[in-house]
Amino acid sequence: MSRLDSFIARMQAQRDCLNYLKPRIDALPGPILEVGLGNGRTYDHLRDLFPGRAIYVFERKVAAHPDCVPPDDRLFLGDAREAIPRAAAALGASAALIHTDLGTGDHAANVEMGRWLGPALDRLAGVGGYVLANQPLDVARWQRLPDPPGVPKDRYFLYRVG
Ligand code: SAM
Repeated sequence: MSRLDSFIARMQAQRDCLNYLKPRIDALPGPILEVGLGNGRTYDHLRDLFPGRAIYVFERKVAAHPDCVPPDDRLFLGDAREAIPRAAAALGASAALIHTDLGTGDHAANVEMGRWLGPALDRLAGVGGYVLANQPLDVARWQRLPDPPGVPKDRYFLYRVG
């Protein structure tokens, strides 16, 4: 698979997972969290899927497309390691959906990040909510769900919060 193929597959998997979750999230109360704004592509897709819904965003340095910059009062700016506890103090364990897309191509760094990221995000996750992650996260009360139809194995990791 070329890097172009891989990029396209990753984008398709992101979109397919978010679309798959749409009816499930519609049935739940609570905000949506986008962890890693990047270019703002998945944030924009979430806005399209869930109009009017509160979407909070985490990003260390905003460099998104100008149309995809969240309002200041929905942005937790700074390193996620300190921003997530700050958000947990403000929002509690209330999120219907947490989408995290923080990792890089560095596998060892992703594994290391996963060690603190899962427990940190757990403080924001509402009971019965969903976590969609681009890396495996190990949290006792989260149950991994099967990949949504058409999504290649282990490209994305979907959890239900118990
Ligand atoms: N899903 C996004 C999109 O569709 O455009 C792409 C996200 S991009 C792969 C990852 C983003 O996470 C980058 O913008 C990076 O600055 C941010 N990021 C990575 N590690 C972070 C950390 N520890 N704290 C805050 N932001 C971080």
